[in-house]
Amino acid sequence: MIRFSGVEKRFGAHVVLSELDFVVSPGEFVTLIGPSGSGKTTILRLLMTLEKVDGGTIEVDGEFLSHMDRGGELVASDEKHQRRIRKRIGMVFQQFNLFPNMPVLRNITEAPVRALGLSKAEAEQRALELLELVGLSEKVGAHPTQLSGGQQQRVAIARALAMRPKVLLLDEVTSALDPELVAGVLGVLKNIAKTTDITFLCVTHEMRFARDVSDRVLMFDNGQVIEEGVPEMLFTRPEHERTREFLHAVI
Ligand code: ADP
Repeated sequence: MIRFSGVEKRFGAHVVLSELDFVVSPGEFVTLIGPSGSGKTTILRLLMTLEKVDGGTIEVDGEFLSHMDRGGELVASDEKHQRRIRKRIGMVFQQFNLFPNMPVLRNITEAPVRALGLSKAEAEQRALELLELVGLSEKVGAHPTQLSGGQQQRVAIARALAMRPKVLLLDEVTSALDPELVAGVLGVLKNIAKTTDITFLCVTHEMRFARDVSDRVLMFDNGQVIEEGVPEMLFTRPEHERTREFLHAVI
Protein backbone atom coordinates (compact mmCIF):
# COMPACT_ATOMS: atom_id res chain seq x y z
CA MET A 1 0.00 0.00 0.00
CA ILE A 2 2.93 2.33 0.76
CA ARG A 3 6.44 1.99 -0.65
CA PHE A 4 9.40 4.33 -0.04
CA SER A 5 12.45 3.51 -2.20
CA GLY A 6 15.68 5.45 -1.78
CA VAL A 7 13.79 8.50 -0.50
CA GLU A 8 15.77 11.59 0.32
CA LYS A 9 14.50 14.74 1.99
CA ARG A 10 16.56 17.82 2.85
CA PHE A 11 15.71 21.07 4.56
CA GLY A 12 18.42 23.37 3.19
CA ALA A 13 21.72 21.62 3.92
CA HIS A 14 20.12 19.43 6.58
CA VAL A 15 19.55 15.90 5.27
CA VAL A 16 16.52 14.57 7.19
CA LEU A 17 15.88 11.34 5.24
CA SER A 18 18.49 9.59 3.13
CA GLU A 19 18.15 6.43 1.06
CA LEU A 20 15.05 5.53 3.03
CA ASP A 21 13.36 2.24 2.09
CA PHE A 22 10.31 0.69 3.68
CA VAL A 23 6.98 -0.84 2.70
CA VAL A 24 3.60 -1.11 4.39
CA SER A 25 1.29 -3.89 3.19
CA PRO A 26 -2.47 -3.48 2.71
CA GLY A 27 -4.29 -3.65 6.05
CA GLU A 28 -1.09 -3.57 8.06
CA PHE A 29 -0.66 -1.40 11.18
CA VAL A 30 2.88 -0.06 11.16
CA THR A 31 4.27 2.19 13.87
CA LEU A 32 7.29 4.45 13.57
CA ILE A 33 9.24 5.00 16.76
CA GLY A 34 12.49 6.81 17.43
CA PRO A 35 13.99 9.94 18.93
CA SER A 36 12.56 13.37 18.31
CA GLY A 37 13.93 14.90 15.12
CA SER A 38 14.64 11.55 13.46
CA GLY A 39 12.29 12.28 10.54
CA LYS A 40 9.09 10.42 11.44
CA THR A 41 6.66 13.30 10.94
CA THR A 42 8.42 14.25 7.72
CA ILE A 43 7.51 10.82 6.32
CA LEU A 44 3.81 11.43 7.03
CA ARG A 45 4.03 14.94 5.56
CA LEU A 46 5.62 13.60 2.36
CA LEU A 47 2.72 11.15 2.00
CA MET A 48 0.25 14.00 2.48
CA THR A 49 2.16 16.00 -0.17
CA LEU A 50 2.68 18.71 2.45
CA GLU A 51 6.40 18.39 1.67
CA LYS A 52 8.23 17.67 -1.57
CA VAL A 53 10.69 14.82 -1.85
CA ASP A 54 14.28 15.52 -3.00
CA GLY A 55 15.05 12.06 -4.32
CA GLY A 56 13.73 8.53 -4.66
CA THR A 57 10.32 7.04 -5.19
CA ILE A 58 7.14 7.13 -3.12
CA GLU A 59 4.30 4.83 -4.14
CA VAL A 60 0.81 4.71 -2.61
CA ASP A 61 -1.76 2.09 -3.58
CA GLY A 62 0.14 1.30 -6.78
CA GLU A 63 0.53 4.92 -7.90
CA PHE A 64 3.61 7.11 -7.80
CA LEU A 65 3.80 10.38 -5.87
CA SER A 66 7.32 10.76 -7.23
CA HIS A 67 9.62 8.63 -9.34
CA MET A 68 13.00 8.76 -11.06
CA ASP A 69 13.04 8.94 -14.86
CA ARG A 70 15.45 6.87 -16.99
CA GLY A 71 18.12 9.53 -16.72
CA GLY A 72 17.89 9.41 -12.91
CA GLU A 73 16.04 12.73 -12.67
CA LEU A 74 13.35 13.12 -10.03
CA VAL A 75 9.84 13.56 -11.41
CA ALA A 76 6.99 14.60 -9.14
CA SER A 77 3.50 13.59 -10.25
CA ASP A 78 1.32 16.41 -11.48
CA GLU A 79 -1.07 18.13 -9.07
CA LYS A 80 -4.15 16.35 -10.34
CA HIS A 81 -2.56 12.93 -9.95
CA GLN A 82 -1.31 13.87 -6.46
CA ARG A 83 -4.79 15.00 -5.43
CA ARG A 84 -6.22 11.68 -6.56
CA ILE A 85 -3.72 9.76 -4.45
CA ARG A 86 -4.18 12.21 -1.56
CA LYS A 87 -7.89 11.38 -1.45
CA ARG A 88 -7.08 7.83 -0.40
CA ILE A 89 -5.09 9.02 2.60
CA GLY A 90 -6.51 10.39 5.85
CA MET A 91 -4.52 11.99 8.61
CA VAL A 92 -5.14 12.65 12.28
CA PHE A 93 -2.89 15.26 13.86
CA GLN A 94 -1.62 16.00 17.35
CA GLN A 95 -3.75 19.16 17.38
CA PHE A 96 -7.22 18.05 16.37
CA ASN A 97 -7.76 20.94 13.91
CA LEU A 98 -11.57 20.75 14.03
CA PHE A 99 -13.50 23.62 12.47
CA PRO A 100 -14.28 25.62 15.66
CA ASN A 101 -17.36 27.36 14.31
CA MET A 102 -19.15 24.21 13.10
CA PRO A 103 -21.02 21.67 15.19
CA VAL A 104 -19.65 18.14 15.40
CA LEU A 105 -21.94 16.74 12.70
CA ARG A 106 -20.94 19.36 10.15
CA ASN A 107 -17.26 18.90 10.99
CA ILE A 108 -17.67 15.34 9.75
CA THR A 109 -19.98 15.92 6.77
CA GLU A 110 -18.25 18.97 5.27
CA ALA A 111 -15.46 17.20 3.36
CA PRO A 112 -17.51 14.22 2.06
CA VAL A 113 -20.13 16.62 0.67
CA ARG A 114 -17.57 18.96 -0.90
CA ALA A 115 -14.87 16.55 -2.01
CA LEU A 116 -16.67 13.23 -2.55
CA GLY A 117 -19.94 14.69 -3.79
CA LEU A 118 -22.11 12.86 -1.23
CA SER A 119 -25.60 14.24 -0.63
CA LYS A 120 -26.10 15.95 2.73
CA ALA A 121 -28.39 13.11 3.85
CA GLU A 122 -25.86 10.42 2.88
CA ALA A 123 -23.03 12.27 4.59
CA GLU A 124 -25.10 12.75 7.76
CA GLN A 125 -26.09 9.10 7.88
CA ARG A 126 -22.46 8.08 7.59
CA ALA A 127 -21.40 10.70 10.19
CA LEU A 128 -23.91 9.30 12.70
CA GLU A 129 -22.52 5.79 12.19
CA LEU A 130 -19.00 7.07 12.69
CA LEU A 131 -19.95 9.01 15.82
CA GLU A 132 -21.34 5.79 17.22
CA LEU A 133 -18.11 4.01 16.32
CA VAL A 134 -16.06 6.59 18.28
CA GLY A 135 -18.57 6.60 21.15
CA LEU A 136 -19.86 10.15 20.73
CA SER A 137 -23.40 9.79 19.41
CA GLU A 138 -24.72 12.13 22.08
CA LYS A 139 -22.37 14.94 20.98
CA VAL A 140 -23.71 15.27 17.46
CA GLY A 141 -24.96 18.84 18.00
CA ALA A 142 -22.15 20.03 20.27
CA HIS A 143 -19.49 22.53 19.26
CA PRO A 144 -15.81 21.54 19.50
CA THR A 145 -15.24 24.01 22.36
CA GLN A 146 -17.80 22.09 24.45
CA LEU A 147 -15.80 18.85 24.13
CA SER A 148 -12.80 17.55 26.03
CA GLY A 149 -9.55 17.11 24.13
CA GLY A 150 -10.15 13.37 23.96
CA GLN A 151 -13.64 13.86 22.56
CA GLN A 152 -12.35 16.37 20.00
CA GLN A 153 -9.72 13.89 18.90
CA ARG A 154 -12.36 11.18 18.50
CA VAL A 155 -14.38 13.57 16.30
CA ALA A 156 -11.22 14.18 14.28
CA ILE A 157 -10.86 10.41 13.81
CA ALA A 158 -14.50 10.16 12.67
CA ARG A 159 -13.91 13.07 10.29
CA ALA A 160 -10.90 11.35 8.74
CA LEU A 161 -12.85 8.07 8.36
CA ALA A 162 -15.75 9.88 6.69
CA MET A 163 -13.53 10.26 3.60
CA ARG A 164 -13.24 6.45 3.41
CA PRO A 165 -9.44 6.47 3.32
CA LYS A 166 -7.47 3.38 2.41
CA VAL A 167 -4.58 4.67 4.50
CA LEU A 168 -4.79 6.48 7.83
CA LEU A 169 -1.77 8.41 9.10
CA LEU A 170 -1.61 9.08 12.84
CA ASP A 171 0.81 11.74 14.05
CA GLU A 172 1.24 11.74 17.83
CA VAL A 173 -2.53 11.76 18.22
CA THR A 174 -2.46 11.61 22.02
CA SER A 175 0.41 14.01 22.73
CA ALA A 176 -1.83 17.00 23.36
CA LEU A 177 -4.21 15.11 25.67
CA ASP A 178 -4.46 14.98 29.44
CA PRO A 179 -3.22 11.55 30.55
CA GLU A 180 -6.66 10.30 31.64
CA LEU A 181 -8.06 10.92 28.13
CA VAL A 182 -5.41 8.97 26.25
CA ALA A 183 -6.81 5.48 26.78
CA GLY A 184 -10.23 6.37 25.29
CA VAL A 185 -8.69 7.65 22.06
CA LEU A 186 -6.30 4.72 21.74
CA GLY A 187 -9.13 2.28 22.45
CA VAL A 188 -11.15 3.75 19.57
CA LEU A 189 -8.17 3.47 17.21
CA LYS A 190 -7.50 -0.09 18.25
CA ASN A 191 -11.10 -1.00 17.54
CA ILE A 192 -10.96 0.62 14.09
CA ALA A 193 -7.68 -1.13 13.30
CA LYS A 194 -9.15 -4.50 14.25
CA THR A 195 -12.49 -4.09 12.47
CA THR A 196 -11.56 -2.38 9.17
CA ASP A 197 -9.07 -3.11 6.39
CA ILE A 198 -7.56 0.37 6.60
CA THR A 199 -3.76 0.51 6.44
CA PHE A 200 -2.24 2.47 9.33
CA LEU A 201 1.04 4.33 9.54
CA CYS A 202 1.40 5.68 13.05
CA VAL A 203 3.94 7.89 14.82
CA THR A 204 3.63 7.64 18.58
CA HIS A 205 5.47 7.81 21.88
CA GLU A 206 2.85 5.56 23.47
CA MET A 207 4.91 2.39 23.55
CA ARG A 208 2.21 0.30 25.23
CA PHE A 209 -0.21 1.19 22.46
CA ALA A 210 2.44 0.54 19.79
CA ARG A 211 3.09 -2.86 21.29
CA ASP A 212 -0.57 -3.66 21.62
CA VAL A 213 -1.85 -2.69 18.19
CA SER A 214 1.04 -2.76 15.69
CA ASP A 215 1.71 -5.57 13.26
CA ARG A 216 5.21 -4.18 12.77
CA VAL A 217 7.33 -1.48 14.40
CA LEU A 218 10.07 0.47 12.61
CA MET A 219 12.78 2.04 14.74
CA PHE A 220 14.10 5.25 13.23
CA ASP A 221 17.28 7.10 13.83
CA ASN A 222 18.81 9.85 11.72
CA GLY A 223 16.31 9.41 8.92
CA GLN A 224 16.87 5.68 8.48
CA VAL A 225 15.15 2.54 9.66
CA ILE A 226 17.79 0.98 11.90
CA GLU A 227 15.67 -1.95 13.08
CA GLU A 228 12.22 -3.36 12.44
CA GLY A 229 10.16 -6.25 13.65
CA VAL A 230 6.97 -7.50 15.22
CA PRO A 231 6.36 -5.72 18.54
CA GLU A 232 7.09 -8.75 20.73
CA MET A 233 10.59 -8.96 19.21
CA LEU A 234 11.43 -5.29 18.96
CA PHE A 235 10.25 -4.34 22.44
CA THR A 236 11.58 -7.35 24.31
CA ARG A 237 14.70 -8.32 22.35
CA PRO A 238 15.92 -5.30 20.38
CA GLU A 239 19.10 -6.06 18.47
CA HIS A 240 20.41 -2.57 17.91
CA GLU A 241 22.12 -0.72 20.74
CA ARG A 242 20.39 2.53 19.74
CA THR A 243 16.96 0.83 19.98
CA ARG A 244 17.81 -0.50 23.44
CA GLU A 245 18.86 2.99 24.59
CA PHE A 246 15.74 4.57 23.16
CA LEU A 247 13.35 2.04 24.70
CA HIS A 248 15.14 2.25 28.02
CA ALA A 249 14.64 6.05 28.01
CA VAL A 250 10.93 6.03 27.08
CA ILE A 251 9.46 2.97 28.79
P1 ADP B 1 10.31 13.57 14.25
O1 ADP B 1 8.89 13.49 13.77
O2 ADP B 1 11.03 12.27 14.21
O3 ADP B 1 10.44 14.27 15.56
P2 ADP B 1 10.57 15.48 12.11
O4 ADP B 1 10.25 14.74 10.87
O5 ADP B 1 9.54 16.39 12.68
O6 ADP B 1 11.12 14.47 13.21
O7 ADP B 1 11.87 16.38 11.85
C1 ADP B 1 13.08 15.85 11.34
C2 ADP B 1 14.09 16.98 11.21
O8 ADP B 1 13.68 17.85 10.19
C3 ADP B 1 14.23 17.82 12.47
O9 ADP B 1 15.61 18.12 12.63
C4 ADP B 1 13.47 19.06 12.15
O10 ADP B 1 13.98 20.17 12.83
C5 ADP B 1 13.64 19.20 10.65
N1 ADP B 1 12.49 19.86 9.99
C6 ADP B 1 11.22 19.39 9.94
N2 ADP B 1 10.43 20.23 9.25
C7 ADP B 1 11.22 21.27 8.85
C8 ADP B 1 11.00 22.46 8.09
N3 ADP B 1 9.79 22.75 7.57
N4 ADP B 1 12.04 23.28 7.88
C9 ADP B 1 13.27 22.97 8.38
N5 ADP B 1 13.55 21.87 9.10
C10 ADP B 1 12.54 21.02 9.34
